[in-house]
Amino acid sequence: MEHLVPYIYIVSAVLFILSLKWMNSPVSARRGVFAGEVGMLLAITGTLISHQVFNWQWIFAAFLIGTAVGIPIAYIMPMTAVPQRTAMSHACGALAAALVGTAEFYADPNRPKFILVALMIETLLGFLTFTGSLMAMGKLQEVLPQRPITYRNQNLINFTLFVIALGLGIRLIFVPEAMWMFPVFAGLALLFGVLLIIPIGGADMPTVIALLNAYAGLSACAMGFALSNNLLIIAGALDGSSGLILSIIMCKAMNRSFTNVLFGAFGQIQTKAAHTEQRSHRSASPEEAASILEAASSVIIVPGYGLAVAQAQHKIRELFDNLSRRGVDVKFAIHPVAGRMPGHMNVLLAEADIPYDRLIEMDDINSEFPQCDVVLVVGANDVTNPAARTDKTSPIYGMPILDVDKARTVMVIKRSMNPGFAGIDNDLYYLDRTLMLFGDAKAFVSEILKEMPAVKAAA
Ligand code: NDP
Repeated sequence: MEHLVPYIYIVSAVLFILSLKWMNSPVSARRGVFAGEVGMLLAITGTLISHQVFNWQWIFAAFLIGTAVGIPIAYIMPMTAVPQRTAMSHACGALAAALVGTAEFYADPNRPKFILVALMIETLLGFLTFTGSLMAMGKLQEVLPQRPITYRNQNLINFTLFVIALGLGIRLIFVPEAMWMFPVFAGLALLFGVLLIIPIGGADMPTVIALLNAYAGLSACAMGFALSNNLLIIAGALDGSSGLILSIIMCKAMNRSFTNVLFGAFGQIQTKAAHTEQRSHRSASPEEAASILEAASSVIIVPGYGLAVAQAQHKIRELFDNLSRRGVDVKFAIHPVAGRMPGHMNVLLAEADIPYDRLIEMDDINSEFPQCDVVLVVGANDVTNPAARTDKTSPIYGMPILDVDKARTVMVIKRSMNPGFAGIDNDLYYLDRTLMLFGDAKAFVSEILKEMPAVKAAA
């Protein structure tokens, strides 16, 4: 059977590549997930039938524990907690890579230099990603303070620590007999992971997680070189590069640089003073909102994080059906960083079976807002803030936004005048043509629907 392993690995690698490709679009995303799952199953099967496995009992025990933990997590974890769940997966993957590297090093430290280089990269990245991901998870779950934790000379201290860890790693490559250095090296990598993440604000955690994903991938890639496993090299490289590309896309969508994300202490620390300023806004009832929607011929719905919190996607689907049956042209405007993770809105709306062709990306829909009768913003805030275009002093200045303020009428469903993730007031709420619809998104849309008698679908 062992001669089949390279072929199994090739099929698996192709499936991983296709998986990433298909996940590019909501239409093919499910196929992408399935391809990834089959690819992973083949990868595990290939590894199990290769000569490298000596102890089936351990493998079986790990399989049982992994299944017992993984399945409940998949069911219990709410959608809004997916970013921290992803951080947890990275922590586990990175720890696995680091421990494999450690075991390999102790099993035989006198190996060719190239293998030792791979082992040091694997363990360094693995350990720092492990603690870094745990910190990111803690911040997102709010068991750790979300605000950036900073102190004097922080960057210098972090840099020095990293250089010492790197220096020890290099020393171990040339003098592997000095094994006492390895625990120090590993300890410094673990500490560096903590210190790297604590100064970053909670708002930037999803971007940081994408970056940690890239580190975990690179660690796995290095492990592939250390173990001479081609599939690990390919999968790790795919993971590393896709994580990096994702974090670049997220930075662009927020008009931020990497250095600003890593060292800018942005997010929850923004003062919330602005929103306490007294400015007048207009609000409306569900009945008024319903009659405005009924009278419209085109409606663009803008979903945001509040849609996820309220789990209002199924009610929104009912509203979509109701309006569509009345002949209203209804579209959804998707901002790349709406919600708390990339693709958050696509996933929610797909769960409610909103047709994919109704989901329009920001760059394509922005030109349609001026002709649109009504924009219904559902739990979105920062991604609609015109200050990003006009106010040079705003922390989100330059971030591409959905131009909802250009529509004829704007209705915003949210619970209060409180700010969104960036912690800043939204000028949109004070425009003459904006109506605030105060309430939980799911409850408010239900109230609107009560005012709009269901219309039968055309035969
Ligand atoms: P925001 O966080 O800006 O706003 C969400 C709004 O939803 C809040 O103002 C809140 O107002 C409202 N809300 C919360 N719960 C409910 C509820 N139950 N019913 C109705 N409304 C509710 O979200 P956006 O999606 O507009 O923007 C995303 C933000 O996250 C951006 O700043 C982005 O940069 C950031 N970010 C996104 C990432 C991603 O990958 N998607 C990654 C990193 C950061 P109220 O409390 O008054 O109800």
